[in-house]
Amino acid sequence: MSINIVCLPGDGIGPEVTESVISVLNAVADKFKLEINIDQQLIGGAAIDATGDPLPAKTVSACQNADAVFLGAIGGPKWDDPNAKVRPEQGLLRLRSAMGVFSNIRPLTVFPELVDASPLKPKVLEGVDFIVVRELTGGIYFGDKHRGENFATDECRYSVEEIERITKVACELAMQRGKKITSVDKANVLETSRLWREVVTKLVSQNYPEIKLEHQLVDSCAMKMIQNPAHFDVVLTENMFGDILSDEASVLAGSMGLLASSSIGEGSGLFEPIHGSAPDIAGQGIANPYASILSAAMMLRWLNYLAEADAIETAVKSSIASGILTRDLKSESEIKTHQVTHAVIQNL
Ligand code: ATP
Ligand code: MG
Repeated sequence: MSINIVCLPGDGIGPEVTESVISVLNAVADKFKLEINIDQQLIGGAAIDATGDPLPAKTVSACQNADAVFLGAIGGPKWDDPNAKVRPEQGLLRLRSAMGVFSNIRPLTVFPELVDASPLKPKVLEGVDFIVVRELTGGIYFGDKHRGENFATDECRYSVEEIERITKVACELAMQRGKKITSVDKANVLETSRLWREVVTKLVSQNYPEIKLEHQLVDSCAMKMIQNPAHFDVVLTENMFGDILSDEASVLAGSMGLLASSSIGEGSGLFEPIHGSAPDIAGQGIANPYASILSAAMMLRWLNYLAEADAIETAVKSSIASGILTRDLKSESEIKTHQVTHAVIQNL
């Protein structure tokens, strides 16, 4: 059995956390007698420096032919000039569209050992375990944009088909979990939200009668996520609300350095930590690789290598429980990225 994975290290701490993922994947391959082929390609600022293009054609074809793609992080101050013709982030947007990924999935688990890292009280965090499913290709981000003399407009657009396909993703996830979906919109104000609510309600009731569906307005959902985060199981929402809510949710866990994500669609999936390139700590060898290692576990689970994914997740839990924590999780810690990698491999 062999798996073909493309790794896109990218910029800032991207290459550091990607190196950690590659070591863990190689160790998993050894332990489970699997063949994991890893092909590294350029994206983002690193690709601009090397080729002038944040997403070279060679990267696109490698990603389209891979079973799955792992991405480190993209961007940094070096490429931040607002007048620049090419920007690293364009590489990621183009990659998402080339791969046809339309759903971004972010699981949120709170590790009991790390409740101190969260701004919320331990009692509020008890039993928190939910997933945000964000639509990735529609909504206000992609509608027509217009700038007049002294005004501007952004069109927000959703089609029935776009809403249906993301709803199915959420339903499939909910069926493997608590069979509960909270669909988030702003149906008291927005027409796209009214359509959203209609389509979600119809699809769930016709095809997934076991699922308990509730609707929440985005404003009250933002509040509940802090007041009672254990209420949620699968949170389903459109592009912009999902962008905002998933960042809010990430705070519950204590550090960006812990949270994994996947973007999936018709073809191969794209897996990445939720954090950015963290230019402030890049190059120091102190980046927390847990989010990336957990993204690699998500990738293996999605590829149906369940025992392998479980092994990585269990190894991460043991490493965290034994206090192998980088500075973002424990101030004044001297633990380096490679020590975390080593601990996870030892615990496999
Ligand atoms: P982007 O625009 O790329 O999303 P951002 O401004 O949201 O970037 P991040 O790069 O995600 O920022 O970093 C935010 C803060 O969290 C920084 O102080 C960074 O050092 C810290 N951070 C992010 N990821 C990690 C990590 N894996 N390990 C340690 N610290 C991290
Ligand atoms: Mg960010």
